[in-house]
Amino acid sequence: ETIQIQTASKKYPVFVGEGVRKELGTFLSTHFTNLTRVLIMTDETVEKLHLEKLLVVLKEWNPVIFTAPSGEKAKTFEVYYDALSAALENRLDRKSVILSFGGGAVGDLSGFVAASFMRGIPFIQIPTTILAHDSAVGGKVAINHPLGKNMIGAFHQPEAVFYDLELLKTLPIQEVRSGFAEVIKHALIADSDFYLWLKTNIHDLNSLPLSQLSDSLVKGIRIKNEFVSQDERETGVRVFLNLGHTLGHAIESEMGYGNFTHGEAVMIGMIYALKLSNKLLGMNFQLSEFVDWVKSLGYETDIPGQLSFERLISKMKQDKKSVGESIRFVLLDSVGQPRLEEISESVLLNELKSF
Ligand code: NAD
Ligand code: ZN
Repeated sequence: ETIQIQTASKKYPVFVGEGVRKELGTFLSTHFTNLTRVLIMTDETVEKLHLEKLLVVLKEWNPVIFTAPSGEKAKTFEVYYDALSAALENRLDRKSVILSFGGGAVGDLSGFVAASFMRGIPFIQIPTTILAHDSAVGGKVAINHPLGKNMIGAFHQPEAVFYDLELLKTLPIQEVRSGFAEVIKHALIADSDFYLWLKTNIHDLNSLPLSQLSDSLVKGIRIKNEFVSQDERETGVRVFLNLGHTLGHAIESEMGYGNFTHGEAVMIGMIYALKLSNKLLGMNFQLSEFVDWVKSLGYETDIPGQLSFERLISKMKQDKKSVGESIRFVLLDSVGQPRLEEISESVLLNELKSF
């Protein structure tokens, strides 16, 4: 299946399916004239598991390979610097292309390398995680600063996304959960039919049939695209994609990255946002049903006991969306109808205490 992503600055295809990586060679020869160099950026885990499969389809391009540490460790200044050095040493230029081969971390790192190397060169996303259905679409690329995640970055759209579902088979279950939380998020903010479909059909993330996985990802990508295409630089509706992320980010950072996957933390944040929506907006959401469902999928649904509510609140205040003593939250009027609300610290604290 091919999805066309339309943003104000660019239009590009997302190819989704088993084996789509095999089309990459043809795309490179038809899309680029005088392609000088191909740099594959990946991480240690993906290199071991899958790099060979990519190399066989790219033989004629004789690609250079840069391998970052796996996970969030890819998004540091040091790794970014090393990647730029590799690009310079191998004489990449404006007629070269970077291939991002990995999850969201590699995608963010390599996208930022592509955005900043010689003021910007093209790149292609070849995502290998479920979460990357989210991160590979939208053009946000970044690395982390010790004082904040994703603080140094750019908007840089890829030339194409090749989402080869065959590569997802090796994902550990907590990474499947992480990515699938974003699928559920996309349903909640945009499409009640899709939400009902998920709730009716998805019962076991350990053995997702390919067709369900594919449908979920295609739907998720289309929804992400709807929000992004209306608002490439996050001045309006794009903010709704942050459902569950205000508390989710706070939990992630308080737990230490790596102890809780992003999506697992966001799931708890979504439950919190849904509670607030029921209470403050009179949303009529069957929360206990939802919680039972996601529990059965293996999600943690409580705030980890060791975390301090005060610290979570102060973390939430550092969020890019906060204003003064209130914190801006994405809530829902109903499934598919998101809305941004300013909520005071005291209301938020009470609701954490009664979580
Ligand atoms: P990730 O890239 O860290 O991947 C998670 C783990 O899975 C890593 O250890 C990785 O090595 C491993 N892995 C990747 N593919 C695999 C495979 N096929 N089989 C087995 N293991 C595999 O994380 P992620 O969850 O994909 O993405 C999270 C990152 O994405 C965060 O840094 C987040 O900030 C970023 N993000 C960006 C955006 C955006 O719009 N740019 C949106 C959401 C998230
Ligand atoms: Zn997210």
